[in-house]
This record gives sequence, C-alpha cells and structure tokens, in this order.
Amino acid sequence: MRSSTPNLFVLERTAEAPEVIDVHFRHLVCGVCGTRPVARVGSTAVRFFKQAQLVDVTRTAGGLLARHKLLERLTEHLITGWRAGVVRVEAIPSLCDRDLSYSELVIVGHTQCYAERVGLQVDSECSECGRRAYLVPQEGIPMPKECWDGSDIFMIDELPGLTIVTAAVRDLIKQYGHTGVRCTPLTDWRDPLGWMPEKRLAKPPSDVWPPLR
Ligand SMILES: [Zn+2]
Repeated sequence: MRSSTPNLFVLERTAEAPEVIDVHFRHLVCGVCGTRPVARVGSTAVRFFKQAQLVDVTRTAGGLLARHKLLERLTEHLITGWRAGVVRVEAIPSLCDRDLSYSELVIVGHTQCYAERVGLQVDSECSECGRRAYLVPQEGIPMPKECWDGSDIFMIDELPGLTIVTAAVRDLIKQYGHTGVRCTPLTDWRDPLGWMPEKRLAKPPSDVWPPLR
C-alpha cells in the first residue's frame, strides 16, 4: 500500500472504435427491469474499416483494445491492474498490411466501497433485483485513497465507462507517443458526454456497458 494517493487520470479515448462483429453477454431476467445483459462472456471480435481507427488504444464492447507493443511496455514498466485478453481482429483489405496485433486490455484493478465513501447519489434502484444506477459527478472525480486498490489501471464499479490510471501510465503513454488516448487529471475531468444533469436526453455510446440507465 502506498502512503498517499498519487496523481490519477481519466484515460479518455480519442479515436473512433472498430466495429464489434462478435460479442456474447450473460443476461439477467428481472420482472421490473426486463431482460438485461449483466456481463460479457468470452472474447469479442472486431473489424477495422478506417485507417484512423488504427491507434494504439481503442475500444471493444465494454472494454479496451491495445496494441501488443503497448502491452509489452506495460509489462516492462511493471504496470499493474490489467491482463491481456484474446480478441479476434479483422480489417478491410486495404488495411491488412498494417499493424493489427491487438489484444484486449482487461482491467482487473477496482475501487472498494466507492459509492459509500464518496457519497455518490443513487439515481435509481430496482425494487425487484436491486440494480442501482448512480449519478456521475459533474466536475471532477473524487478518489479517497482508501477506495483505491493500488493498481496503476483501475475502474470504478459504480461509474462504468471510466478508466482511471496513475501518473506512471500517463508518463509511459507520453514518453512513447502512444496514440488513441489522452490522460485528463481526475480533478479536471468534466462529463464530456453531458450525461449530467440531463443525461436522460443524452444517448450514451453503445460500447459503454453496463449503461448508466
Ligand atoms: Zn430489476
């Protein structure tokens, strides 16, 4: 355990994602919510169809894809909180001679008791299955050090869709010029999709899972 919370950043993706061509979810059936996917099962398959999508870090259904050269650097620099996962990659013929060596960047770092410790506001709670949705903080993401598991890459379970990284990851991305992401300090982060306060009017991207509503 480190003695103080280091500088943390939201990893924001900057490129359009490849098309997800194969994905499977486990579903939960609730009398109130209906049938909804709760977890992805197995790996996905993606197809790149534009050169601009061929960046070092991008998205797949509910997760991140990263080029092998970046994953090797994470390993070399002893970056924690992730593992590599299998993904099937296809591309249109004109892109087939490009670097298509991607794996899924599966994030295993998590927060603990985040909603309780931060006092996150519950937006809705299902009376039947207990599913809760939380309001996203509008300006800055608070991160008490007792919530952080010490991983260099981690997620906040109650706020799906956000990937948090340490300065070590930020520095590595900067040093090697890795493409497809930018690192925004937690305190500077602003809800760029306008989920709050009028998130019912905003449509979250389909790759964010589970959805906020
Ligand atoms: Zn329910």
